[in-house]
Amino acid sequence: MQRQGLTLGTYKNIRIGLDYSWFVMFVLVVFMLARYFFPQNYEDMAAWEAWLLSVLAALLFFVSILLHEFAHALAARKRSVEISEIILFIFGGLAKMKKEPERARDEFVIAGAGPLCSFIIGLLFLGLAFLLEPFIREGLHGVFWYIGYINILLVIFNLVPGFPLDGGRMLRAAIWHYSGNLRKSTRIVSNMGQIFAFVLMFTGVMVIFGGGLIVGIVWIFVGMFLLQSAKSGYYMVAMREGLSGIPVGKIMTTNPSTVHPNVSIKNLVDEYFFKNRFSCFPVMRNDEFVGLVEINQVKAVDRDQWQYTRVSDVMTPRDALRTVKPDTDAYDVLMQMIDAGSGRLPVLENGELVGIISRKDIMQFVEFREALGT
Ligand SMILES: [Zn+2]
Repeated sequence: MQRQGLTLGTYKNIRIGLDYSWFVMFVLVVFMLARYFFPQNYEDMAAWEAWLLSVLAALLFFVSILLHEFAHALAARKRSVEISEIILFIFGGLAKMKKEPERARDEFVIAGAGPLCSFIIGLLFLGLAFLLEPFIREGLHGVFWYIGYINILLVIFNLVPGFPLDGGRMLRAAIWHYSGNLRKSTRIVSNMGQIFAFVLMFTGVMVIFGGGLIVGIVWIFVGMFLLQSAKSGYYMVAMREGLSGIPVGKIMTTNPSTVHPNVSIKNLVDEYFFKNRFSCFPVMRNDEFVGLVEINQVKAVDRDQWQYTRVSDVMTPRDALRTVKPDTDAYDVLMQMIDAGSGRLPVLENGELVGIISRKDIMQFVEFREALGT
């Protein structure tokens, strides 16, 4: 996956990334606080103080989210589930696992750690707001109160039992624990997550009709994001189950049609792409695999240059390609493809090309297995 954004730092080998989309949310939160929260609750407050406190409150809010994600990450690490990075983005935070937990108990603890952390932060700030009220400026008290309140809201939101929310993961772990069926449990919570996503989007529309344009739009986008994640959560599990223990050699296309590096692009298009309808060809020079040429690489060349340009001019050379072996686990290959953003990979054995594997091959394999119930 491409990394867009800034690296804030690394803690215990976990990269803390800030996606550029985060700034949108940050500005929005500051704006909402400065224009509505503080002026409505503290009528005498000067505008500069409201803005200053809003920035402080927004920063504390995002630190709370970061701590929430760290709670997930550290709980995961305790249970030997590797976390590669924590990303703050427009909709909050994400602790990216290299691999999903393999035991229900682990998943339950990892998912529960985040809301527990937010709950503690929430209580702490509400407690501080209560205890310090007589001693601090009114506005600062407002910040403490807001952080306490928003963290408790975060707990409630995250505990909604729909995937990919923490509550959904916890429920999945529970069903998984008692049924032993990861796929079925994921389907249940994925469906619940999708229902919740629709509820959010519907609420967003209602809010817009009620005059809250920006807030309504945020709700709709959060709903869309959750809908997508809920669907792909189930899809990933189906893939993982359908592919477990299957070597890629069993799924790949063997003896793929190949092309010589000296062939012109014009020839490649007419005689290869159109005739075979593959979108990609391995490039071979005298039985030696030298690269891969894909249809989008041809698109980058001006049409009037097609007869003067050769395959070797546009192909991805072998050194720059990620390759896999026939005995590599098909699920790992799919993960590698997603990670690299590539649609297909050459399969090599002892340095020789033995096949080509595409995402489509993998998905079709899983679909067939599902259809046949094997
Ligand atoms: Zn969480």
